Amino acid sequence: TTWQYEPAPESKSAATINKQYDLFINGEWQKPSSGKYFDTINPATEEKLSQVALADQSDTDKAVKAARNAYDKVWKNMPAKERGKYIFRIARMIQEKARELAVIETLDGGKPIRESRDFDVPTAANHFFYYAGWADKLEYAFPNRKAQPLGVAGQIIPWNFPLLMAAWKIAPALATGNTVVLKPAETTPLTALKLAEIIQEADLPPGVVNIITGAGDTGANIVNHPGVDKIAFTGSTEVGKLIQRAIAGTNKKATLELGGKAANIIFDDAPLDQAVEGVINGIFFNQGHVCCAGSRLYVQESVAKQVIRKLKDRIETLIVGDPMDKNTDIGAINSKQQLDTIHKYLNIGKKEGAEMYESSCPLPKKGFFCRPTIFTNVAQSNRIAQEEIFGPVLSVLTFRTDDEVIEKANNSPYGLSAGVWTDKGSKIFNMTKRMRAGVVWANTFNKFDPTSPFGGYKESGFGREGGLHGLMAYVRLA
Ligand code: NAD
Repeated sequence: TTWQYEPAPESKSAATINKQYDLFINGEWQKPSSGKYFDTINPATEEKLSQVALADQSDTDKAVKAARNAYDKVWKNMPAKERGKYIFRIARMIQEKARELAVIETLDGGKPIRESRDFDVPTAANHFFYYAGWADKLEYAFPNRKAQPLGVAGQIIPWNFPLLMAAWKIAPALATGNTVVLKPAETTPLTALKLAEIIQEADLPPGVVNIITGAGDTGANIVNHPGVDKIAFTGSTEVGKLIQRAIAGTNKKATLELGGKAANIIFDDAPLDQAVEGVINGIFFNQGHVCCAGSRLYVQESVAKQVIRKLKDRIETLIVGDPMDKNTDIGAINSKQQLDTIHKYLNIGKKEGAEMYESSCPLPKKGFFCRPTIFTNVAQSNRIAQEEIFGPVLSVLTFRTDDEVIEKANNSPYGLSAGVWTDKGSKIFNMTKRMRAGVVWANTFNKFDPTSPFGGYKESGFGREGGLHGLMAYVRLA
């Protein structure tokens, strides 16, 4: 298959991927049974990017059947060392095709090319490398038990880190001997489909990985399929709850990685410039489309004025615009629908009486863009302090004492991540112990490594991805 980019002179993002994608089932590209395709668009230009197959129930049946067959006949019995070699090969091929993957990710999703190139693609490759290494070592982690695969894993992922989320899902499933039916999000299916090409080229046995495309209905078909043994879902808390209801009473295992509203806490003894950079990265990385985004800043009262001044100055330097431009800091919002959601919350914040400060950066005329925005004078009970906005919008609150900030940080339906900025090591340990969040970063934010487990408390879901914990989500110990 060839990829054609047709760059237009006026904007680097005005490129198109002239391709119609079929479904990747049983190692082959198959036409959807309904014959239906849907368009994906480039959110930076609002132009059509490609056409993608819409999988219906019979396509899902085919994919699950292929995965079951591959599981029974090939994959579960293959020596773990051999499985590891395939996973390693995928990792190498992601590295070899890194440029192409980064370009596709940025055109499809709107994130800055600097981030796709330096974060999404290398981190996805690292994930495959890491789990390739685990494939033949699980027996050492549990010397007296046998870690058995679960069977067919149905995996459903969101649009904010399309390639990386596919890697988080596929790599541990394959390492432990499971086979996969994965569905990427409908607005960003292209890097998962490119990964299917890689998997085909890496010569994985047919049916070990199947990638089917469609919207929520296709996802629900996977969830409800009796041939699926495990559901791994990353997405909204709302859909996570639907999935829990759908699988209640079945023997399906599930891991759910859901929404967040992370508290990022600055104490008055913190190195403030470093903390401000951390807060900026925490909320504006990937346009704020990050489940663990530091969207609630708690700053100690004595330094609040100073920190808010620095934040306002800093957002004026952020460049919003063409995601394909290497200088861009904030790319396109992933979809019109998400942009509308963000605008809705900006209005809610203003109505709630918070003070809104928007950077003065000019926005491109076409495409879905939003300026970095900071709300101050936010109250704990305000919706902009409680609900996930999933955009470049920071809510700033203040506190006086440790007890007060712990109380406020934990006063959230979510509990995915948090950040603490302080000069005192003892304070870090004290705070992390008391914080009800799956990940707590100290004097840094948004750091990811395949060796560290990631996952939530409360409505942020359950189960962990990454590290040995991530493998345990795909095995039962006999
Ligand atoms: P979403 O829940 O709308 O969609 C996620 C996926 O589920 C998509 O592939 C979608 O097609 C599919 N889906 C929709 N309805 C379904 C149904 N009824 N049954 C099965 N599948 C269905 O979420 P989104 O808008 O794509 O992603 C944003 C959300 O994801 C945010 O809330 C964010 O916090 C969360 N997220 C969480 C993590 C994490 O690791 N905790 C990571 C990234 C994103």
